[in-house]
Amino acid sequence: MATPTPSVKAVRGTRDLLPPETALWARIEQTARDVFARYGFGEIRTPIFEATELFARGVGEETDIVSKEMYTWEDRARAQSEKAQSLTLRPENTAGVVRAYIEHKLGETGAPQKLFYIGPQFRRERPQRGRYRQFWQIGCEVLGPQSSGSESPVRDAEVLEMLATLLDELGVKNWKLELNSVGSSEDRKRYNAALREALAPVKHQLNEDNQRRAETNPLRVLDSKDPADQAIIAALPKIADYLDDDSRAHFAAVLAALDACSVPYTANPRLVRGLDYYTRTTFEFTVPDGSGLGTQNALLGGGRYDGLSEMLGGPKAPGIGFAIGEDRLVLTLQAQREALEPRTLNLEPKLDAYIAPIGAERNAAALALARELRRAGLSVEVGDGTFRLKKSFEAADRVARHIVILGEDELASNTATVKTFATGEQVKVDRTKLIDLLRT
Ligand code: AMP
Repeated sequence: MATPTPSVKAVRGTRDLLPPETALWARIEQTARDVFARYGFGEIRTPIFEATELFARGVGEETDIVSKEMYTWEDRARAQSEKAQSLTLRPENTAGVVRAYIEHKLGETGAPQKLFYIGPQFRRERPQRGRYRQFWQIGCEVLGPQSSGSESPVRDAEVLEMLATLLDELGVKNWKLELNSVGSSEDRKRYNAALREALAPVKHQLNEDNQRRAETNPLRVLDSKDPADQAIIAALPKIADYLDDDSRAHFAAVLAALDACSVPYTANPRLVRGLDYYTRTTFEFTVPDGSGLGTQNALLGGGRYDGLSEMLGGPKAPGIGFAIGEDRLVLTLQAQREALEPRTLNLEPKLDAYIAPIGAERNAAALALARELRRAGLSVEVGDGTFRLKKSFEAADRVARHIVILGEDELASNTATVKTFATGEQVKVDRTKLIDLLRT
């Protein structure tokens, strides 16, 4: 006997999003678009792949993302005029946005650019609940020349207040905002030196990755999730003690503005985040255990990146941004909603009508009626005339609020028989009254 051909499966760490769940994704994206519009953000769409160098320079060679998680390949030249080049699937979108800002000279408008994006990102991480190799981010960036006010703490607070509004409008419960300041690049140099010194006598007790980081990029050690490293980390110097007056005043102004807006927050002096480009304000929004994320409780993260544009060869363009993990937002909303209303979780709204033709010769007329109703704005499913009436009723009850029966009689008299499932009522109506009835 021939062995059956194995079917092709989605690649590890990737997954298909299917209805009805995709309705929730669409609602999240629509809500985000609505909120962002109210704050004056416009959409940017950057390419899914970029020159590898962009991420090496922007995100940082020593980060986990660049050192082990990127999907990188050598792209062959197809013509004499082209050069082979190393390309990478974007692991995040900030570097791409800043590249576009530089490339299109967006700074020359003199106004701060407020840009948002929604799209997939790629990281070769160990897949688990809430962590995928292709995942979606919804993000915003505010950046511009210094004269545009892009460095102002008002921008930081506005972005954080907008996130609080977005999460509230989406219905996310019990979110928590943690924030910190990692200072200017000079502050960080001094802090890194202090960390290196403090880590020298104890670094042999850290895990292998952190031993290397203790040398190359000690700030990254604070990011360690390894429980065995936590006692050492707790005893390390705090960045707050290394901030210069400007960074300190900037952070205080951000907190004061959040207080004025009544946005609750917790200052967390250990929050540094996994990307190298951050300066001053860094933040994360988390949800409590049991909100559907397993160990991945960070819903979103972001911060200020005042030097990033220059790192990429552009003009000075201070900025701040964030990226929401959309996959995690979906998991959280599903889990929190189920906790509230375990049995009534129905993301898929029912269609207005299901048209059941009686007999195959009524199929064409059923489709014509469906066309008329859909053009009037109703949502409609069409059955098949070969179905027995019982089967049509069952199919209709699953997907629609009304069944419209179209038999010989109805067609001859220009009427339709409509049953409304919620009330059990069945009536024969004139075609001219049909649309109004189905809207109820
Ligand atoms: P980052 O770009 O690392 O600052 O991450 C920002 C947000 O993206 C995180 O808070 C997560 O919600 C989400 N995220 C990052 N990596 C993944 C991943 N591998 N799978 C799903 N979501 C992710």
